Order: sequence, then C-alpha cells, then structure tokens
Amino acid sequence: MATNRTFTMIKPDAVANGHIGAILAMINNAGFRIVAMELTQLSKHDAQEFYAVHKERPFYGELVDYMTSGPIVAAILEKDNAVADFRKLIGATNPAEAEEGTIRKLYAESIAANAVHGSDSDENAAIEGSFYFAERSKH
Ligand code: UDP
Ligand code: MG
Repeated sequence: MATNRTFTMIKPDAVANGHIGAILAMINNAGFRIVAMELTQLSKHDAQEFYAVHKERPFYGELVDYMTSGPIVAAILEKDNAVADFRKLIGATNPAEAEEGTIRKLYAESIAANAVHGSDSDENAAIEGSFYFAERSKH
C-alpha cells in the first residue's frame, strides 16, 4: 500500500545551528508540501518510544539523549513517492557517505547528529506521523 506522505524531524543539531529555514526551503524546492509542522522538544519517553526499534543497538542511549537535548521541528510532508524521494533528498545516515547536495551532506555534524529524520517505509511514515499529529492530520 503506497502512500504519498512521509514524516520528518529537523533534529536538535540542525535547529541549534540555525538551519531550519534552509532545510525547509530545500524540502519545498524538492516539491514536498508541508501538511503539519511543529517546533517541539521530545521528552525522554517520546524519544525512547520513537526509536524503540533501535533499543538493542549500542548507540540507543546516546541517540535518546541527543534527540532530547534541544528543540526539533516535526513535520508531515506530502508528494508523490514521498518516502523514497525524501530519503534521497536527506542522503545517507552517515553524512561522510551522503551524496553532494543532500541535506545531511550540507548540514549534518556527525552520524548521530545528522540534521534530519526521514521515515524508511510507508508503514512507518503513518506510524510516526500519527505519533505526533494524530489529531491535526485528520481531514
Ligand atoms: N545513529 C547513530 N549511530 C549509528 C547509526 C545511527 O547515532 O551508528 C542514529 C542517527 O541519528 C540515525 C538514527 O540513529 O539517524 C537512526 O538510525 P537509522 O539506521 O534508522 O538511520 P536513518 O534511518 O536515520 O538514516
Ligand atoms: Mg531509520
């Protein structure tokens, strides 16, 4: 079941470094429509739940600490082929391996503080979007 939506977060490093505007411009210029958006800060509980799939990984504790370290921008984005096209726009998880011109290549600090989140499947896009915007995203 393909959908045309994905979920993103502009992560604490990119917000702290003043890149919200530049990243949103790249998102808009790539043809995504912003369906819902909020500047917010994750609680420890939120971050643990959001990244629960990684809880056995060695970086989980640091990831939760990092994602709760400052404000983030959460958003639902709409476009044909949204999930795959957004993963292409953000680039590889490790910015050292990200293609030129991608958001992570331009703005990420490290493999952990990598500027943005993008859902990895239509199913997770729906789960992650409703995690934040359950009420507001209903039409
Ligand atoms: N991460 C990390 N160290 C790693 C791999 C991932 O700190 O070795 C962090 C990074 O912030 C990444 C997040 O955990 O974005 C989720 O990892 P995933 O493999 O799902 O990467 P993504 O889907 O975000 O590219
Ligand atoms: Mg992922």
